[in-house]
Amino acid sequence: MTKLGLFSLQHRGQESAGIVAVEDGAARAVRSMGLVSDMPLAPLDALHGSMAIGHTRYSTTGSSVIENAQPVLVSSRGGSIALAHNGNITNAGEMRVDLEDLGSIFASSMDSEVIVHRLARSAANTPERRLADALSGVEGAYSIVMVLGDTLLSARDPRGWRPLVMGRLNGAPVFASETCALDIVGATYERDIEPGEIIAVDALGERSIFPFEKKDLKRCVFEHVYFARPDSRIFGGSVDRARRALGRRLAQECPATNADLVFSVPDSSNSAAIGFAEESGLPYELALIRNHYVGRTFIQPTQATRDAKVRLKYNAVREVLHGKRVVMVDDSIVRGTTTRGLVALVRGAGATEVHMRVSSAPVTGPCYYGIDTPSRDELIAANNNLEEIRASLGVDSLGYLSLDGMLESVPTGPEGFCHACFSGDYPTPPPTDPDKLRFGCGC
Ligand code: 5GP
Ligand code: SF4
Ligand code: MG
Repeated sequence: MTKLGLFSLQHRGQESAGIVAVEDGAARAVRSMGLVSDMPLAPLDALHGSMAIGHTRYSTTGSSVIENAQPVLVSSRGGSIALAHNGNITNAGEMRVDLEDLGSIFASSMDSEVIVHRLARSAANTPERRLADALSGVEGAYSIVMVLGDTLLSARDPRGWRPLVMGRLNGAPVFASETCALDIVGATYERDIEPGEIIAVDALGERSIFPFEKKDLKRCVFEHVYFARPDSRIFGGSVDRARRALGRRLAQECPATNADLVFSVPDSSNSAAIGFAEESGLPYELALIRNHYVGRTFIQPTQATRDAKVRLKYNAVREVLHGKRVVMVDDSIVRGTTTRGLVALVRGAGATEVHMRVSSAPVTGPCYYGIDTPSRDELIAANNNLEEIRASLGVDSLGYLSLDGMLESVPTGPEGFCHACFSGDYPTPPPTDPDKLRFGCGC
């Protein structure tokens, strides 16, 4: 069942996958590099238990090696501790140094491991209070599922940066980053874990506490723009509806008059392109075909693999594009590398004019909260004006959605969202040395 859930969350991370299951108080882990489908079958079949947690990894801190695969699993006084973390802790470097001064020995280079060490040190008398101790003073983004002895725990940071939902299956609670993982196992969505909430589940029942000081809500707007799956509901709203609204607003703000057709860069901008086409009254066509057997280009951690994969991943449909003035809709432009390659493909297939429309504002800064856009000098919109970007991508016209347009389009917007990578308005001080926080990854 946990494996099924991970299949649905594969888009959130493709570097490694893992499951920890607890049977009669004994926790065992299976972790491997690559996709969920690459996990070794025999050890997985041998995993049984009354509770389990799983993780697909996309590295934001720490390199892509098996030592950094999650869930983390260690033994401690109070029983096994297993942790699966989504997000990025911005003061992990300082916390790690403090813990090492106290004698902790780290087994990985992940930011998440500091939570495990802090939990092991807590003297509180309930599992949820121990987790509260471990998380106090932790800055940045975390949506967490954990095992501590015989207790299942889940927690979401006080700003609610990353999604985390709770569902129910045959009376038992199920936690996941997105509702699409509840759907695949047949669980019913119950509610979101609230920002700042910790939930504990064990033989004594289900308990919820709010141990942290209340903070301003900062849900990641990029989850709606790009990261989450359109069949999910996150932050109390539908991702599909958000993306269609983004596309419609984009068509109002940056119309493409005189174009013949609209197409998306599959799959992440499909819904936005449909919204754009509906609003413009233009036909929506399938002009780019994506090879589903090659991973997400951007998700690969080094620039070299990213460049090489554009052509592996997409091909253009000549019959749709030849002799046409086209609108290419994408959800975001980060480095511009993929887009430049795609524009060349589209022109090569005979399009006479290419008008690029982007259903988010220009990305001008790195994310420190769990999306891998680490360095400002790599961001095309941080270093070039609109005309320079247009020329560099080789398009006839270029239009981005405004920041206000983006925030007003998402459900439950415009308040309560983080938009730091678009606006420069960072809710926390940036990590003092973000490169060092990457612990030797060098990418
Ligand atoms: P670029 O032209 O900037 O190289 O790539 C743009 C493409 O990357 C878009 O299709 C967009 O959907 C995708 N993208 C944007 N941000 C991210 C991200 O943080 N992670 C991944 N995996 N893909 C991204
Ligand atoms: Fe999301 Fe951007 Fe904020 Fe990161 S900086 S959490 S990607 S909105
Ligand atoms: Mg895309």
